[in-house]
Amino acid sequence: MPSPIDIKEKVYLSPYNTMGIQAVADFFVEVHSVSELKVALRYSKTNALRTMILGGGSNVLFTTDFKGLVILNRIEGVEIVSDSDQEVILKAGAGENWHELVLYCVDKGYGGIENLSLIPGTVGAAPIQNIGAYGVELVDVFVELELLDRESEDIRTLSKSECNFGYRDSVFKRELKDKVIITSVTLKLSKSGNPNYEYASLKQNLKSKGIDEPTIKQVSDAVIEVRQSKLPDPDEIGNTGSFFKNPVIPVFQYDELKQTFPDLPGYPVTERQVKVPAGWLIEKAGWKGKRNGNAGVHDKQALVLVNHGNATGEELLELAGLIQGSVKEKFEINLIPEVNLIN
Ligand SMILES: Cc1cc2nc3c(=O)[nH]c(=O)nc-3n(C[C@H](O)[C@H](O)[C@H](O)COP(=O)(O)OP(=O)(O)OC[C@H]3O[C@@H](n4cnc5c(N)ncnc54)[C@H](O)[C@@H]3O)c2cc1C
Repeated sequence: MPSPIDIKEKVYLSPYNTMGIQAVADFFVEVHSVSELKVALRYSKTNALRTMILGGGSNVLFTTDFKGLVILNRIEGVEIVSDSDQEVILKAGAGENWHELVLYCVDKGYGGIENLSLIPGTVGAAPIQNIGAYGVELVDVFVELELLDRESEDIRTLSKSECNFGYRDSVFKRELKDKVIITSVTLKLSKSGNPNYEYASLKQNLKSKGIDEPTIKQVSDAVIEVRQSKLPDPDEIGNTGSFFKNPVIPVFQYDELKQTFPDLPGYPVTERQVKVPAGWLIEKAGWKGKRNGNAGVHDKQALVLVNHGNATGEELLELAGLIQGSVKEKFEINLIPEVNLIN
């Protein structure tokens, strides 16, 4: 019987990752439903292929060609699960575009994810690193998700606590890494029209427009404006946004570093821990605007590594390693990549 899915061989992945890395997948398939996803997984088992699931490719670095099957998730659909005067519960297919979902919610007056406007990628990848921006994280609106267990092919529901969300972290980066595929995500959004605009650059943007009590649409517009002024557009220069996580260090280490680097910024996380901006460390280590072949550090935002054209995954990985080495030497701090390294 012919397969209902279209498995292609030797596919260039550059159109499918925002870094624009020219890696090749041995096999590649686009799936639009859970049943197609199951067929793809069975194909990989029958043919003993490794698989990886790809959404928007905005948080991956292909360090080499992918020897296996890349499954491009395009499972769509947005469903209102419940609707009351105060809130709405919404379930979205994992292959939906995240920013389009945000715009849909903003348009309907459903508040809670407007601060996460313009984050590239798919809904299904949002829980992987608990996406966050401008004072809001996915966890703040998250209810549950559905996933497909790769081994058993069972569909399971995971609650918020089971996802174990942290700063750019979740169970999917740890115990469940490469074991499950998220197929839908359910969010609880507010109809109270009470957006969070405490984040300094957001507040400043709104203030400059004379807006004291913004609507969720005004917050979304401000987030989009601030992001566009700060972050390079992957359509213009390949990148994956922040390449490293902002390190969280003990207060005593922060206090010690402050003696040598009095202008080191820091944001308390707990009584004992401080988050320091990785971009600041990289800039002070002298990397802003530097290149390693076609791989480079952005000249305005040192946390963003860029592809100046035809950079290989290896070149970017090497650059990342050099940066980690000099930040470690100068500050005794380990930088951990936020981006998922795929080999
Ligand atoms: C310009 C730019 C700005 C960014 N800004 C932010 C920001 O402000 N905040 C932030 O948190 N992130 C940011 N990012 C990172 C990125 O957009 C997010 O991490 C996003 O959620 C990735 O979605 P994706 O669909 O592109 O994931 P992909 O890159 O396709 O995948 C990322 C990882 O998740 C896995 N994965 C993908 N889909 C699934 C699924 N359905 N089930 C299981 N595993 C899956 C993949 O295998 C891979 O390991 C930015 C990236 C760029 C390029």
